[in-house]
Amino acid sequence: MEILKICEYCKNEFKAQRISTRYCSPDCNKTHYKLLSRKRVFSNTNKLSRKNEISNKEFLSINETCELLGISRSTLNRYIKTKKIEINKLHKKIIIKREYVDNFLEQFHVVNIPEEVIDFKNNFNINDYYYTGEVINMYSTTGNSLNNILEKNNISKIKVGSHSFILKKDIIRIFGKPQIPQKNG
Ligand SMILES: [Zn+2]
Repeated sequence: MEILKICEYCKNEFKAQRISTRYCSPDCNKTHYKLLSRKRVFSNTNKLSRKNEISNKEFLSINETCELLGISRSTLNRYIKTKKIEINKLHKKIIIKREYVDNFLEQFHVVNIPEEVIDFKNNFNINDYYYTGEVINMYSTTGNSLNNILEKNNISKIKVGSHSFILKKDIIRIFGKPQIPQKNG
């Protein structure tokens, strides 16, 4: 089956074998991916600094409060009406003391999830990691010497349940590409 599609990067028409194909060539795929991830990093830093900016203010506007709490205007109005959040008025303009917003969050045990955590969760893929046992087998090393090497190179493991995993990228950087074909990997 051949389908005429438009490449998402170069916008040229090409014949795809599958409906899911998005690019005319691996090059277009790679370039576009890089471009998109750069954009994503940029927008995340923007969001972060905006949040920091709001967090440092003593008084917040209605919009800023909504943004900080991640709630809609009508939800905020409800909280104000039921006096869950106190308001002040400054020349007819409603302002909200940051302290009240903090108290509100504490009262409801709402934990603000850091952007880094959200980003990590969105991008996390266990296939980017080796299980420690795989590394020991592939590079004929021992658990102890692996731990020493990781420590020396400031590489941290992540834990999933009781098993430890290490980023493949880090292992390859230190040990080189694995020589022995991987099993279970
Ligand atoms: Zn293309």
